[in-house]
Amino acid sequence: MSKIIATAAIRGAHAMVKRAEEDLAKAIEAKGKDAKVEYPNTAYYLPIMLLFLGQKVETLGDLEESLTEAKKLLGPIPTEGLWLPYLGTTLDAGVATLLAEEIIESLKYVMGPNPVDGIWLGYTDDSILRTQGIKLVDGRMPGFAAIVGATENNKQAVDMLLDLQEKSILVFMAGNSNGRSVAEQAAAEGVDMGWDNYLVPYGKEITSAIHALNFAARSAMSFGGVEPGDFKAAREILMYNKTRVYAFVLALGGDDNAESKEQILTDEKYATAAGAINFGFPVIADTNIPEILPTGVCTYEHVVSGVKVEDIVSRAIEVRGLTIKVEKVPIPVPFGAGFEGERVRKEDMYVQFGGKYTDAFELVQMKPVEQIEDGKIEVIGPEVADMTEGEAYPLGIVVEVAGREFQEDFETVLERRVHEFISCANGIFHMGQRNIIWVRISKATQAKGFKIKDFGEILVAKMHADFSTIVDRVQVKLYTDKAKAAEMLETAKAVYSLRDDKIGGMQDEDVDEFYSCALCQSYAPDHVCIVTPQRLGLCGAYTYLDCKASYQIDKHGPNAPVAKGETLDGKKGEWSNINEFVELKSNGNLTKFKAYSIMEDPMTSCGCFECIAAMVPEANGIMIVDRDYSGMTPVGMKFSTLAGQIGGGTQTPGFCGIGKIYISSQKFIYGDGGHQRIVWMPKQLKDEVGDRLKATMEAQGYADLFDKIATEENAEDPEKLVEFLTEVGHPALTMDSLF
Ligand code: SF4
Ligand code: ZN
Repeated sequence: MSKIIATAAIRGAHAMVKRAEEDLAKAIEAKGKDAKVEYPNTAYYLPIMLLFLGQKVETLGDLEESLTEAKKLLGPIPTEGLWLPYLGTTLDAGVATLLAEEIIESLKYVMGPNPVDGIWLGYTDDSILRTQGIKLVDGRMPGFAAIVGATENNKQAVDMLLDLQEKSILVFMAGNSNGRSVAEQAAAEGVDMGWDNYLVPYGKEITSAIHALNFAARSAMSFGGVEPGDFKAAREILMYNKTRVYAFVLALGGDDNAESKEQILTDEKYATAAGAINFGFPVIADTNIPEILPTGVCTYEHVVSGVKVEDIVSRAIEVRGLTIKVEKVPIPVPFGAGFEGERVRKEDMYVQFGGKYTDAFELVQMKPVEQIEDGKIEVIGPEVADMTEGEAYPLGIVVEVAGREFQEDFETVLERRVHEFISCANGIFHMGQRNIIWVRISKATQAKGFKIKDFGEILVAKMHADFSTIVDRVQVKLYTDKAKAAEMLETAKAVYSLRDDKIGGMQDEDVDEFYSCALCQSYAPDHVCIVTPQRLGLCGAYTYLDCKASYQIDKHGPNAPVAKGETLDGKKGEWSNINEFVELKSNGNLTKFKAYSIMEDPMTSCGCFECIAAMVPEANGIMIVDRDYSGMTPVGMKFSTLAGQIGGGTQTPGFCGIGKIYISSQKFIYGDGGHQRIVWMPKQLKDEVGDRLKATMEAQGYADLFDKIATEENAEDPEKLVEFLTEVGHPALTMDSLF
């Protein structure tokens, strides 16, 4: 343990706590002790207080208590040169710093300046946490980096961020060096930032780094099912982060003048670093700050210093032990999940395809092996070089695959990935699927020599890489010729409609086995999804066919077939073998499971549900709310609050996490009375699932039911809701009691 760091960190903690005290005093003077303090859209109050103190902060008065606790953790500042034999005092100072920073940042939401400003995003709400959380769960995101400070020049900043994006590492940015920050450097170079691009600028002050740590704290509480409350829980959550969340801190000095570098890492930064070490997140620095060797909390180095900016990402990955899979796709631009959500604006566009302008579609088809020449890519029609800037052209993407283990059912599974694969190329925008796609190539990407043929390169490489056990050969045909594309489109439409008939008609009774999904167990150890043809996984990402294909691809992977066994209750969806399997996989946590009921032994939730179905006792029915809806619901809780109550792999009768597609399934809460129980949904969700839901309701003989479902426009509380339902004559009111 270095004396210099200990002294600086403890001194920094004292300064930070002092500032929190001053900010709080000002806020109380202006607004009074009863004034509310909260982060937007969260069920975790102020997560750092909840984690370390078990405290549910709601008012400025509560913050006084948090401050008292922070002060207790502050030891005396050791004199320079005094030897501290162990890390304890510094780590406590780190926790005090985190508590103080949470006070300072949350007060910004009360007193201003608004933390959400320009490129800065402030607190990450629970809805984003869940969307991103699933990526950490399924490995699409191997971990996250919190960057503090700036690099010497903008190019270094851009290169470093590109490197992280290519490796699919989520990047949080906070703080500055001498008034400059990496996020501002990137913005100056026109880098597109935001959650979709894995680049998240929190704030210019070092205190905003707290949002990276309250994100980590919540992912443990939300996915790990760890109940916060006392010091033991804090310990568990920290252990969880250490073992499951692969994160690290990059501390950048960012000044040409070597002599002043050490001073740029201020006391407050040392104190924040000591806080991060509590989470088991090592600090990698480009300056020559003293190193801390493996001991205590981390099993690896706590602080590694003097690393050149060019090498800092690879060094960090090595220290934290991340597993990175960088696909080498032979195209002229960078490729990685960090570019997946990137948009190409009209001004930056070179050419585009589809949208409302031209015919464009994609199709994956199985072919006999002898008809496929592996790796062959044909462009039928003009190449990018023959196209005029600013124009729209047709595009037909046809991927033909063959493999001994390949089944026709897997075509859709591969086809659904085309979006992700193509989007991962830097400077390519892709939206939609089937014949409603919209693709853009940016000017910068065109200038680097990107061709139509490169779509083929991406698809050949990725189909082989991700589906190696079922795909032996791949060839791609790209149609840009108007007449040929139109002709091929007809073939594609015929295939789509055949598939719809087949999959749409597939019923749970038609199969002898379902599939399990245990992907989320890395985060929620007691949770398992049972995926049936008529009920997909609650995250919305895994259908029955997806699980089946995934099992073929990896027999020891997260999905396995489970024979149903004897049917114990066909209406509520209970089978003998499924019960046994669930008991085993939930570590004895559950003994029974009913697929079509939310009232009796419902499926558990891990944390990544697309929607929550919840009973509304007053209406004798259920409501459904999705995570994009941040308003109040008739059960008196917002999505975020509901989500906080049902995650973590426990059964909560009356509440259940579900995937969107399940809402229009014939088996939707069949055991509880089915669709006639739906009394409320947010308008946007109702519109989104509308076509499919109406079709199902019609098929069941309730053509008028859809319009009887209330939205927030009709009611946000139970009294108004019942009034509305009575007015329209909703069937739920007169059905058997739900309990
Ligand atoms: Fe997680 Fe269930 Fe989705 Fe699998 S299907 S990823 S277990 S939520
Ligand atoms: Zn999950």
